[in-house]
Amino acid sequence: MFLEKFNDFYCLLKIVYNSCYYFIMKTLKDYEKELSKCSKCGQCQVACPVYKLTKNDCTVSRGKFLMLHGVTQGELKLSQNINKYLDMCLKCGKCSDFCPAGIDVLEIITCAKHEYMKNTVLGKIINFLQSRLVFSNMIKMMARIFNPHPTTPHLKMERESTLSVMYFKGCVNKILSNTDKHLGKIFKDSDIEIISPDFDCCGLPFLSEGNMERFEQSAKANIEKLNANYDYLVTDCASCESTLLSYNKYFDCNITPEKLLNWGDIIALKGLKFEFKKPVKVTFHKPCHLKSDTFFEKIISNCTNAEYVKMTDYDECCGFAGSFALKNRELSKEISKNKAINIQNTDADYVITSCPACILGLKQGLKLIKNKKTKVVSLLEFLSKAERIY
Ligand code: SF4
Ligand code: SF4
Repeated sequence: MFLEKFNDFYCLLKIVYNSCYYFIMKTLKDYEKELSKCSKCGQCQVACPVYKLTKNDCTVSRGKFLMLHGVTQGELKLSQNINKYLDMCLKCGKCSDFCPAGIDVLEIITCAKHEYMKNTVLGKIINFLQSRLVFSNMIKMMARIFNPHPTTPHLKMERESTLSVMYFKGCVNKILSNTDKHLGKIFKDSDIEIISPDFDCCGLPFLSEGNMERFEQSAKANIEKLNANYDYLVTDCASCESTLLSYNKYFDCNITPEKLLNWGDIIALKGLKFEFKKPVKVTFHKPCHLKSDTFFEKIISNCTNAEYVKMTDYDECCGFAGSFALKNRELSKEISKNKAINIQNTDADYVITSCPACILGLKQGLKLIKNKKTKVVSLLEFLSKAERIY
């Protein structure tokens, strides 16, 4: 009875909603040709962190494509079982990097997810929870609880600015980190103007659940705010970075890899120097979604009293990946445990990264191996600990 009423209410909302938003998603049938490009070469197995543990072909793109091709041919039903395997994916994109056929794995998985979820009660509940009314207000409420100090929407430096930067903070940073304080400290004597409007979520949680209508709503609101004058669009969340770049795939916008940078790139560009009071040993975890990490070694070479020890597989996934960690608890723990062993082998005081979700994954792994020595910090937090910045 409740479900029937909920269904009617949802359908009504959906009619109103769809009349306001252009629906961007293709259907799985549109990917039939793309799916048949898979030669079953198995290169993706070598790259996939999930396959390395499960040895189950259904958990890597080759197997997923075989199932989805069966769906487009009417031989298989897009079932709960297939959805389980769609969810067994970190969305790290490593398989796409290795795929000789150049198949965009994440786009196809997102489409399949959308087709499955739109017909389920769970999908409707998730869509409701991700609606702007619920999701955005929940983020605002959590930010007030966990990060009660007011944010700095527009941080203009003392000197006349030579570089104007648009800061995309991201939801997790709004709640869990103190990036405004760190930025204020790092750039206090700099000539950078930081503009930080209240952006909507980048849309990654919505993409992951195949909620394309909500993704479109978020992306369009953000693209509107990005129509301003600035030199660079900057994040310190690799997941936001890759999602912002993906806007180009779906919408008419101009977010280029040259214009979208990490705070690390800006710090390296400005040649800032950092002096730490006592010697510290650091290691770096490269998030799967981080475009480039060339800034890190440049910054460390400008640090006094900081030694960098590169860990084995520094660019291997941390195992968190948002809802993956919730839906695949044991796999997530196993991947982050392997990561933590590599961190521990460096004997570092700090493991530095540039993605709030990876921070959670790294903490999970270090806790599992009972490592109490190595602290997990964002690049901005680590640099703001310096005694002297010049
Ligand atoms: S995106 Fe990552 S986890 Fe998902 S199938 Fe590809 S390599 Fe595996
Ligand atoms: S690497 Fe690409 S072509 Fe080869 S099996 Fe995987 S998805 Fe298919």
